[in-house]
Amino acid sequence: MKDQSVEQRHQDLDHSGGPPDLHREARDLRRLINAVPGLVWSTDADGEMTFLSQPYLDYIGQSLDAALAGGWLDAVHAEDVEGLLSTRAAALAKGQAVEHEVRLRRADGVYRWMLFRASPSLDEAGKLIGWAGVNIDIENRKGGRDALRDSEAALRESERQLQQIIASIPGLTWRADAQGNITYWSQTFFEYAGADATLEDIIGYGFLNYIHPDDRDLVMQTWVSILQSGQPGESETRIRRADGQYRWFLWRVSPFFDSAGKLTQWFGINVDIENRKRAEEELRRSQTELAHVTRMTTMGELAVSIAHEVNQPLMAIVMNASASLRWLDGDTPDIPMARQALDRIVRDGHRAGDIITSLRNLARKSAPRLDRLQLDQVIPVVLDLLQGELARRGVVAKMQIGENLAIRGDSTQLQQVILNLIMNALEAMAGATGGQRLTVRAQVCGRDAIVSVTDTGPGLGEDDPERLFDAFFSTKAEGIGMGLSICRSIIEAHGGRIWAANNGARGSVFSFTLPLAEGTDADVVNR
Ligand code: ADP
Repeated sequence: MKDQSVEQRHQDLDHSGGPPDLHREARDLRRLINAVPGLVWSTDADGEMTFLSQPYLDYIGQSLDAALAGGWLDAVHAEDVEGLLSTRAAALAKGQAVEHEVRLRRADGVYRWMLFRASPSLDEAGKLIGWAGVNIDIENRKGGRDALRDSEAALRESERQLQQIIASIPGLTWRADAQGNITYWSQTFFEYAGADATLEDIIGYGFLNYIHPDDRDLVMQTWVSILQSGQPGESETRIRRADGQYRWFLWRVSPFFDSAGKLTQWFGINVDIENRKRAEEELRRSQTELAHVTRMTTMGELAVSIAHEVNQPLMAIVMNASASLRWLDGDTPDIPMARQALDRIVRDGHRAGDIITSLRNLARKSAPRLDRLQLDQVIPVVLDLLQGELARRGVVAKMQIGENLAIRGDSTQLQQVILNLIMNALEAMAGATGGQRLTVRAQVCGRDAIVSVTDTGPGLGEDDPERLFDAFFSTKAEGIGMGLSICRSIIEAHGGRIWAANNGARGSVFSFTLPLAEGTDADVVNR
C-alpha cells in the first residue's frame, strides 16, 4: 500500500527547488521516521490507519499488512479501546490535535502505557488530508505518576476515615495552638451548640461564651495552669446546649509534640457527663437521707437519756426559782442570795437551750455545707448530749481535743460520725465487766486533723477491720450495719480517711482524718 501521507510530507519538506530524487529522499525520510524515539503512524482523513513505522511494527510484533488490517487496534488493551476510539471520533469531528493514554501490547505480550498523539495533516489549501501520529512510551513516567496519584488517593482516603472517626467520637473534640487559642472544633460541637454557633464565634477564646458563667473563671484558671505545665489535664464544666440548657462535661486535653519534641498543639475532648452527674447527685441525696434516718434512729434510741439531760437544768431552774422566791419572801428579803439563785437560773436556762439547739441541729435535714469549723466546738456537743447515757452505762469519758483545730466541713454530719463511733463504743463495752473507759482525741498529724475514739471493749478480732465499713455488715442482733458505712461516706466526702484497729491488748480505736483548714495553728490541750 502506498504511503501518501509520508510522501506528501516529504514534498512539503522539499525546499531545494532542484529536480528531486524522489526515491532517495523517500528512503531518507523513512530512515528518519524509523529513528524517531516513538512509534510513528498516519491515517487518512477518515482516521483509517495507512502507515506504521518499523519500530511500531516491531513493537507490536506484526507485519504491516496485519497491522493495517486492524491488528494495530488489537494491540490496544481491551479496556482502553473504547476510550481511544472516542478520542479519535472527537478529533475527526473537530479536526484538532488530540492525545490519549492507552496500554499497548508489546510483541512479548507485555502492555506498556503509551501516549498517543495525533495532529491533522493539511494540504496547501488547508484541507484535511489525513492524520499523523506518534506514540510515546510513558510506562515509567506513568508508573511514577500513578504511584503519586495512588498515594494522594490513599492520603485522601485516610483523611476521610479520620474525619469519620472524629465525627463519630461521642464527644466534642477540639484543637488549640501552643498558646491555648482554640483553632478547631469538631462538627459535633456545632450540632450541640446549635445553628447559631460559627467557627469565628468560638475559635480563640470565644468558646467561653458557651461555658456557664459560674464556671468561666475556673475554666480559665485550669486552662492556663495546664498550658503552663505542658502536661495533660482535665476538669469539669457546664456547656450550653442549643436549647439553652447547660450540661456537665468532663474535658480532657493532651499536648502534642512535633518530631523535635516542641509542644506545637493541644488536642482536647469534652465528654457529656450530665447523666452521671445526676446519678451522683441522686446517690448523694439518698446517702444524706439515709444518714438522716439513722441519725434520727440513734436519737430515738437515746430519747430517754436525752430527755433526762434536758430535764436536769429544768429541774435546777425550778429549784433555784423556788429558792429565790424564798430569799425574797419574808420580812427581810435577802437580795444577794436571791440574785445568786437567779444567776443559776439564767445559766441553767442557757444550758437547756443549748442542748435543745444541738438536738435540733442533729435532727436538721438539710443539704451538707462546708463551713470553717473548730473541732473543739463540734465534738464536745456530742459528748454533752451523751452525758446521761454515759452515766447510765457507768462509762468514764475523757476528751483530748487540740485547740484551734480548724477544718472545713458540715458540723451536723461530723457530729453524726462522732455520735455513731461513740454509740458503737458504748455498745461494744456493754457486756464487759470492770471500769469502762472511752477516750475521744483530736490532734494535728501533718496537714490533717486526726480524730480517734478509743474504747475498752472486746476489740475487733483478727479479721480485716475494713469489712466493718461495708454496708449491712453487723454482728449485733438488732444492728443494720449502716453506721460505719455512713461514717465512711461522710468522711470521704470531706476529703478524709477512716479506719479501725485494735487498741493494743484491750478494746478498739476508730480514727478518721480531716484536712486542716488554711492557716491552722493547733496545740493539744487535755480536757
Ligand atoms: P451496726 O452498729 O448496726 O452493727 P455499724 O456499721 O455501726 O453497724 O458497725 C458494724 C459492725 O462493726 C458492728 O456490728 C460491730 O461488729 C463492729 N464494731 C463497730 N464498732 C465497734 C467497736 N467499737 N468495737 C468492736 N466492734 C465494733
